[in-house]
Amino acid sequence: MAGLSLKHIYKVYPNGTKAVNDFNMEIEDKEFIVFVGPSGCGKSTTLRMIAGLEDISAGELMIGENVVNDMEPKDRDIAMVFQNYALYPHMTVFENIAFGLRLRKLPKDEINRRVTEAAEILGITEYLGKKPKEMSGGQRQRVSLGRAIVREPKVMLLDEPLSNLDAKLRTQMRSEIAKLHAKLGTTFIYVTHDQVEAMTMGTRIVVMKNGFVQQIDTPKNLYNYPGNKFVAGFIGTPQMNFMEATLLKRGDEVDIDFQYSDAKVTVPYSMMYKARPSYLNGKEKVFIGLRAENISINPEVVKNSKSVIKVKVSHKEELGNQTLVYGDINMDGDGYTETSTRIIINGDGALDYKTGEVIDAALDLNKVHIFDKETELSILPRIPEYNYFDCEVKGGKISFLGTELKLPPAIKCEDGKKELLIPTDAIKVGGSDAEVTVVSCDEINGKQVLSFELGGRRAFAVVPEPVANGKVKISIDLKKISLIADGAECVAAMPEKVKFEGNLVKAKVTEEVEVNGKTKKKKAIKFLLNIAGYELPCSDDIADKLITAMGVKNAFSDKLIYECSPYDLEIAEKGVSAEVTSVADYGKELFAICKVDGNEIFVFTQNEVSGAVKLLPDIKKLSIIQADKNIRII
Ligand code: ADP
Repeated sequence: MAGLSLKHIYKVYPNGTKAVNDFNMEIEDKEFIVFVGPSGCGKSTTLRMIAGLEDISAGELMIGENVVNDMEPKDRDIAMVFQNYALYPHMTVFENIAFGLRLRKLPKDEINRRVTEAAEILGITEYLGKKPKEMSGGQRQRVSLGRAIVREPKVMLLDEPLSNLDAKLRTQMRSEIAKLHAKLGTTFIYVTHDQVEAMTMGTRIVVMKNGFVQQIDTPKNLYNYPGNKFVAGFIGTPQMNFMEATLLKRGDEVDIDFQYSDAKVTVPYSMMYKARPSYLNGKEKVFIGLRAENISINPEVVKNSKSVIKVKVSHKEELGNQTLVYGDINMDGDGYTETSTRIIINGDGALDYKTGEVIDAALDLNKVHIFDKETELSILPRIPEYNYFDCEVKGGKISFLGTELKLPPAIKCEDGKKELLIPTDAIKVGGSDAEVTVVSCDEINGKQVLSFELGGRRAFAVVPEPVANGKVKISIDLKKISLIADGAECVAAMPEKVKFEGNLVKAKVTEEVEVNGKTKKKKAIKFLLNIAGYELPCSDDIADKLITAMGVKNAFSDKLIYECSPYDLEIAEKGVSAEVTSVADYGKELFAICKVDGNEIFVFTQNEVSGAVKLLPDIKKLSIIQADKNIRII
């Protein structure tokens, strides 16, 4: 039994296919994790890297306490079940299950005990003497599960194990595998392209697309809080409706204007607090996402709804337990073609209607999802990144929502009304910038998301510890805010990262070594990181990771990008040559603004500094990225 840790895992196949990009996840012991996504999204590659059947191009994989990147599959204490069962046809079921144990030379009694127990758990005791060809697909898959169980692995890996079975058997085996997981108490990682399988089995699901993780969450949260349009559309049947629209804020209300249609509804602005104001200008296109069950054509519901739109009915689908009504909000649409006006409605409780008839449909806008048309990301994220407020700057002070703060010397801007962006991680509990009323504090994906009232508005903060409801004082880190005037940024947040360019260098050196009490000279190879012209010695471990990821041929020529925070550089005797152009005074902290190779970087400093300086990065805090392939190696 063990948990797993996947840190910045990449897979680049020799032909250049980048199958997995920056996969990060902590899997706890005993979890049932499902990797799901369309064919070719990188699910199997990830599973095979965990199994040790594929090399990891970059990143760190831990099973339990051990880094296993270079560990042989047989030493990883995992067992794998495949779609095609992979049974030996000439062996009996017993022999198939016992095969691995015999190879490992376990005592006969122990083998008998384990095989009998596994056969009992899987209900195949009576088949132990039969050959695989005498068994059905479902039974064969049970045998292959049995072969995995008897190894008593720390982690069970299952790659589409039910794809070869018919629908009924699949449903049955699904619950059997879930039961098996509960019984064994082992960590399961399960790959499937079937969202129903994922939703019914996983304690957490990883949704993937094109080699990128889209969202990691519980089945319920994926359904209720999809982070982007892809996840929203992939999870749930029938697929969520996506309708193109614009949003226009008018005072305390926002109009949702559906494109290519006359449909228009209004919602309170309080529903849109998490949205960037530029989305509410009546021009920016968005996708409105609403599931079939959140749209009703039941006359009773329609009568009591304030959000009613016209739909031209085209046809219906009887599914037995529910009726789906297809239509279009564009009166010229056909209701069949999947467009941004086609709509699928749960027709329960509706009266009879004819094809071509125009009917009223009530939208439950408490369940609405809104996605950016280009990035497809939710514009109302569950963990918001920013708070957006109107503000006024006057005489070196900024006021918003009844709060007035003195601007530090580093923030210079003209007086006037502006838009203020405060990142949710810039607000801390404690200090004396403002007093707020905490409304709730929820743990969302390991983060504490604080929701509070300030000057009659709802705002959000991401904080390290839970906070009780009631009044609290907060402070705002002003170096993280930005200000927008007339649609253009006039004050930028201080950059959170410092970037340098360079490459890995191999140097031949002569070392003095002690041999039998005598000092001898010995030739050796040392690795150095060229960071913007400064060569910083690095450990063999770091060099190893870089060479593995880039390949020996390119390891010393490929461009690297180094990243760290402004706090991870020291102004020292030696280091990267830089020129201090000015010092940014944020009140509580000073930052030297330095030029390196024409780029501007911020470096934390205790004192006023000027002129030429050397910047020494803390090697332990450096992220190293292979520039052209965009792989974060360290
Ligand atoms: P999935 O399991 O989600 O269907 P895979 O992990 O099998 O996807 O594949 C991810 C991507 O990697 C696909 O584009 C696939 O074509 C590619 N790929 C898989 N195996 C190899 C290989 N051995 N060599 C090159 N490309 C591969």
